[in-house]
Amino acid sequence: MDVRIVVETTFENGTTQTRRLGRLSRPFRDTQPKGFGLLIEDAKSMLWQLQQTILRDQIEEISEASRVSPDCNKVRAIHGYRPSVLDTLFGRFQVKAPRIRRCACNAKSEVALGGPLSPLARFSPDRSTPELQRLQAEPGARHSFREAARIMEMFLPCAKQANTSVRDRLGKIAKKISGSEYVEPAVSSAGKSAAPVTVFPDGAHIRSRPEYQKRHLDVVVGKIESSHMCRRFGLVQQAAQAPAR
Ligand SMILES: [Zn+2]
Repeated sequence: MDVRIVVETTFENGTTQTRRLGRLSRPFRDTQPKGFGLLIEDAKSMLWQLQQTILRDQIEEISEASRVSPDCNKVRAIHGYRPSVLDTLFGRFQVKAPRIRRCACNAKSEVALGGPLSPLARFSPDRSTPELQRLQAEPGARHSFREAARIMEMFLPCAKQANTSVRDRLGKIAKKISGSEYVEPAVSSAGKSAAPVTVFPDGAHIRSRPEYQKRHLDVVVGKIESSHMCRRFGLVQQAAQAPAR
């Protein structure tokens, strides 16, 4: 059999647009167990194309709607397009964000506010969708940053995930959550600001094997980073002489 995937978009003004996303071929005589149903590679490719289609239509609709002046209902001219990159869970895309000229009808008040309007700017202040930011932080909080990046790449058609960007995203979200509780690094006695130090702790509980060992082990490992140094540490609390130190 052949499966054809078609997307139909109906815009708010009533017009519709149909796009073909692709097709799958499953000739039953040749189908092996590993070719049964939808496969991850097909799904990733389709999600990528679906995201591209939805984004393109959404940008077009928002851009056209934003051109209408709320004061005089005239269609405002497009000043130009600013190319930018948008990172989403389902891929990284080049988008052309329109910049719209302000209307002459209330030029005095509007021109005072600045240049052309960018109606898409508020949707991706960080050049990435909030969903992607959240999903980078969540596995990043549960697994190692490298593992979190690998899991995302395995199941999603997202752009290549660097372990450092997962770490930075988690850091940003942690800072946002702690909000007012975030304490700026203390000032040292010399009067100079201490460089911020980040600690990444991790650990594991290792069960003893009764035939060999008498006790379980709690292992603590981690990494300490600042702008000028990076140290790794590891200890077994029961075996260390001064674990707190
Ligand atoms: Zn106007």
